[in-house]
Amino acid sequence: MSIHRTDTDYQAGDFRERFRIPPGPDGEDCLYFCGNSLGLQPQASADAVTAELERWAGLGVAGHFDGPLAWMPYHRLATDHLARLVGAKRHEVVAMNSLTVNLHLMMVSFFRPSGARRRIVIERGAFPSDRHAVASQLEFHGLDQDRDLVELAPRRDGLLHEEDLEDYLERFGDQVALVLWPGVQYATGQAFDMERIARACQRAGVMLGLDLAHAVGNLPLELNAWGCDFAVWCSYKYLNAGPGAVAGCFVHERHAKDTRPRFAGWWGHDEKTRFRMGPDFEPMRGAEGWQLSNPPVLALAALWPSLEIFSEAGIQNLRQASLAMTGHLAQRINDELADTLQILTPMEPHRRGCQLSLRVRSGRHDGRLLFERLEGHGVIADWREPDIIRVAPVPLYNRIEDCDRLIDMIKQLRPGGRA
Ligand SMILES: *Cc1c(COP(=O)(O)O)cnc(C)c1O
Repeated sequence: MSIHRTDTDYQAGDFRERFRIPPGPDGEDCLYFCGNSLGLQPQASADAVTAELERWAGLGVAGHFDGPLAWMPYHRLATDHLARLVGAKRHEVVAMNSLTVNLHLMMVSFFRPSGARRRIVIERGAFPSDRHAVASQLEFHGLDQDRDLVELAPRRDGLLHEEDLEDYLERFGDQVALVLWPGVQYATGQAFDMERIARACQRAGVMLGLDLAHAVGNLPLELNAWGCDFAVWCSYKYLNAGPGAVAGCFVHERHAKDTRPRFAGWWGHDEKTRFRMGPDFEPMRGAEGWQLSNPPVLALAALWPSLEIFSEAGIQNLRQASLAMTGHLAQRINDELADTLQILTPMEPHRRGCQLSLRVRSGRHDGRLLFERLEGHGVIADWREPDIIRVAPVPLYNRIEDCDRLIDMIKQLRPGGRA
């Protein structure tokens, strides 16, 4: 079903025709730089969703068992693609639920405070949902977030340093139960050396969960080799699976047969005996053992056709094209727009993915004005208070020329700017 392209001449935008590009105010394609927030719709999605509506209409309950698209194992249409994308074995990944739900399910099993080892370490400025999730898990265990939630601060350069996490774990590791770390920080676009972080956690005997919301489909990942304990991600950002798409979850193979506590549901029960409907819970081996409910087929129908595109393009090829495109954009901003925009994302290519976070130097008012003018001219980017514009050129559907047009437009539209 999926072919690995081995050619290395993939150019940014080579898969553009596979996507539906929303029109701008003039009816032409907009300049879409928001794939870090909601990826565009693959052409193949509508047919795949409609096909399931038709199968439901024509087959009723028999659709559970009928043919290669049978609903019973429907979630597995995503498995091979996900495993390839995140560097995992098939039984280590599953498509299920949404990101925050999966984060909670994982913490139920992998945040097991005991004795002095009870802290959770996250980055300061974490995505609010992640912070709510860890704070409520601490409370659920009768712990105190003021004492047991550690938020590591960025340095004066505004960035988080792997070394600071290493130092913290060296000093206080025996008091830490879980590190929850982003693959790519959503606000700054900073990418982390996840292998290095995994090693530091292992040295300290600390569980590591990765939030890959902004990393999956953006960077090549090697979750099995790096050895993180679990990972979660959503599928509506770089994975282009639509609003509220079915998310993903990774559980390292070393936990495949864990008997640690979990919140269980019938779909996590061993499929061989699931339909005997007995009272005892026998989990599926691996990530599928954390499933709760039978899968949402209509939503999954928009996930796997999008993942097929990644398997066809190859994440390494996409990354090469992304490095070239985001590098080009960063270079032009620094060369030509340095008096207007400050790049907050690291300049070293290995410390970022697609996204650049741009601070408008003249402040909130001018920043907002620039953002709204760009919107009026068909540029779709994303605004973060107080003065940040995030842009993410996505190598599946964005082209270098999109970045060049963005630069030209900012030159024309910046408040008080010289064209
Ligand atoms: C996008 C994002 C979320 C969103 O959570 P949902 O459960 O999918 O609504 C959570 N955390 C991070 C870091 C994100 O980037």
